Amino acid sequence: MPVATPAVTTSPLRSATQLLFRSFPFPTEPGLRVFGNPDRTSPVFVTGNFDHTVRLVSRVLRDYDCYLLVAPTDGVNVWCASAGGHFGVDQVEAAIKLSGIDDLVDHHRLVLPRLTTPGVDPKEVRRRTGWRVVFGPIDIADLPTWLDESFPRLVSDRVTFPLRTRVEMGIGAGLWPAGLLGVPSLLIAGWKAGLAVMALSYVLSVLFAVVYPRLPTKPGLPQAIPLAAITGAIGFGAAAVLGQGLFGLIFWPVVMAGVGALVALDFPSWSPTDVCKQELLCFLYPATLAPPGFLPTVDEPACIAGCDICVKVCPKGALTLNMDSKAFLNDPDGCISCFACVQQCPVDAIS
Ligand code: SF4
Ligand code: SF4
Repeated sequence: MPVATPAVTTSPLRSATQLLFRSFPFPTEPGLRVFGNPDRTSPVFVTGNFDHTVRLVSRVLRDYDCYLLVAPTDGVNVWCASAGGHFGVDQVEAAIKLSGIDDLVDHHRLVLPRLTTPGVDPKEVRRRTGWRVVFGPIDIADLPTWLDESFPRLVSDRVTFPLRTRVEMGIGAGLWPAGLLGVPSLLIAGWKAGLAVMALSYVLSVLFAVVYPRLPTKPGLPQAIPLAAITGAIGFGAAAVLGQGLFGLIFWPVVMAGVGALVALDFPSWSPTDVCKQELLCFLYPATLAPPGFLPTVDEPACIAGCDICVKVCPKGALTLNMDSKAFLNDPDGCISCFACVQQCPVDAIS
């Protein structure tokens, strides 16, 4: 008999470390977690082995009698792992084998996180393992409602980054300008200047995260150039007001422009979007499944009229059904090239 998973605990130090270094993988042990007193009909959930995610999921699942399979996804968060090829059929198959779940339940149905849709092909999972995949909601907080009202149906869902999430991302993203410009500043201009650059990097990164949804321009250079100009001008103005010499009047605008540019270029890459693939700093997830600039094309004759799987799995609502009940891309600008529609089409009508 499986042993119940102990209570979900975490130390403030571990949480703080994972917040500050959010862009790095934090793996936890893959394998089986058991919640409550599951029987042979209990639901089986799957997630990746990013420590932060496992803790969030466990907090919700501890109110259920169920199993959780933690797949070996290199300690990367679910969406990036899935879009980057670290959370696909191989990892789901490994989770099934590692856990021995075949011997514990009579059904063969796995509930996967919605944001694994770019990487997990349900047809292939079924062919290789005999298990059927259903996708839950995007936000784990919505899981109880989905289980009560919709399980096991696929429902439309949109990815959102609420303020709290963006602030957390902003803190994590501050590491890059703080490290890449703060450390050299410390060596060139002394410890006070270095610490000031690091602190300003974090402040600017969080402020950028807060206002990000309201920015009028697209991610990338259209945001980086104006922000670099503004922060560079502020750097020059502050140096002048503080009576800095020639060195300060050159150093501060250059460094602050660099901080502004890095913040604007890096923050949008914190989701596996098309922008991410063009980012120099997004080196952790270079193997995204879709090529840069990818836009889905629907093969209308092959598309099944009335099937709306791709419409539902699109995390940005970029697809809809046309007058003939066939899928079409109604919002190309909203498409983030995540590949979910391609992966989930049952008849390969999107490429
Ligand atoms: S339309 Fe774009 S954003 Fe939507 S699922 Fe397809 S690739 Fe992803
Ligand atoms: S998932 Fe495939 S078959 Fe279904 S609506 Fe989309 S393109 Fe058509």
